[in-house]
Amino acid sequence: MSGKTHPFSAKQLEEICASHPTPFHIYDENGIISNARKLTGAFSWNEGFKEYFAVKATPTPAILKILAEEGLGMDCSSEAELILSSRCGVEGEGIMFTSNDTPIKEYKSAIDMGAIINLDDISHISYLDDNLGLPELVCFRFNPGPERTGNVIIGDPKEAKYGFTREQLFEGYKACKEKGVKRFGLHTMVASNELDESFFVETARMLFDLVVEISKELDIKIEFVNLGGGIGIPYRPGEEAVNYQVISDGVRELYESTIKPAGLDPMKIFLECGRVITGPYGYLVSRVLHKKEIYKNYVGLDACMANLMRPGMYDAYHHISVVGKEDQEKSHTYDVTGSLCENNDKFAIDRELPETSIGDLVVIHDSGAHGHSMGFNYNGKLRSAELLLKSGGQVQQIRRAETYEDLFRTIEGF
Ligand SMILES: *Cc1c(COP(=O)(O)O)cnc(C)c1O
Repeated sequence: MSGKTHPFSAKQLEEICASHPTPFHIYDENGIISNARKLTGAFSWNEGFKEYFAVKATPTPAILKILAEEGLGMDCSSEAELILSSRCGVEGEGIMFTSNDTPIKEYKSAIDMGAIINLDDISHISYLDDNLGLPELVCFRFNPGPERTGNVIIGDPKEAKYGFTREQLFEGYKACKEKGVKRFGLHTMVASNELDESFFVETARMLFDLVVEISKELDIKIEFVNLGGGIGIPYRPGEEAVNYQVISDGVRELYESTIKPAGLDPMKIFLECGRVITGPYGYLVSRVLHKKEIYKNYVGLDACMANLMRPGMYDAYHHISVVGKEDQEKSHTYDVTGSLCENNDKFAIDRELPETSIGDLVVIHDSGAHGHSMGFNYNGKLRSAELLLKSGGQVQQIRRAETYEDLFRTIEGF
């Protein structure tokens, strides 16, 4: 059982490396497109369904463009992400602006672009109204607090800084209605890297019940419900990918049993997943530079934590394939390291791998989300190139690697 595969042959990867020095991130266009279609297809029963891609996961223009062409919207949390989305051809209500602690300047950019404004706090109603005026469509982020336990990774909603309480939602919609707002949405985000489909169905149950209550009490029409992101990916061999159809079927049943009888149909359903859209379709490719045997056995790569921060930062598991040795017995145990002057610069600790040699290529899986995007320049490390394996098999560089000159780009006089 491996369960974790990658789309490259050893020969093909060596050919790519001949013109693109390691390390680099490479994305599988076919994988991204067919996955996006699978998700939107699963929800095609809901007219107006839209997945807003969480830009922070992979803010790489060529990737955003592919997703935009597949009809995905963009979920932005900053002005920078608004600009990225707009330059990739997404405008208006194709953008959802979910931000917190937001400067008025960023609200202004979002409103000027016609983005859906999702407010993080009740005080932002007057903050917007006093400074810019309220847009015609307003959405609120709901924080269920003690009424719902979050999943393991995102933690306890009542400890989370985000969103409105239940009481504030009612107050907020009422205030906006009185100020002349005509269109409304409801949003929450209570999961991260969750592999259990039923969690998302329960989120829909919570929001649908709330929509029924709010509509009755305040006589407003909630146009859409955004269930948030947080669909997980099987980082570890043996884990199962989430089945979108199971989520969709569960949500549909609730829609039929709560939204329709309350006379609230049609209501659009939105998701704003990031990780599951691009994560499994990106790979960090690196070469073994050194082996070292002291109290433990080490394999040293030419990539480091600056290329992929998750393992070093929170012990995240990223599967590692030694190219050409995928089917060999995992007879050795190594710590797989990078070169930063930080002992947590390890892609894996006590990882069972085939016997690994200097010069081997390794593929580090699931780097397509929060991979390159979390890169940094500590120790003067340069951010790597990003490549795209096109549907036709060609490889296109979609971002060049940084050069040492780039380290001086923001400094005058050197
Ligand atoms: C990060 C984030 C997402 C995306 O989360 P994933 O786990 O990548 O699906 C969606 N919405 C908000 C508000 C976020 O902060």
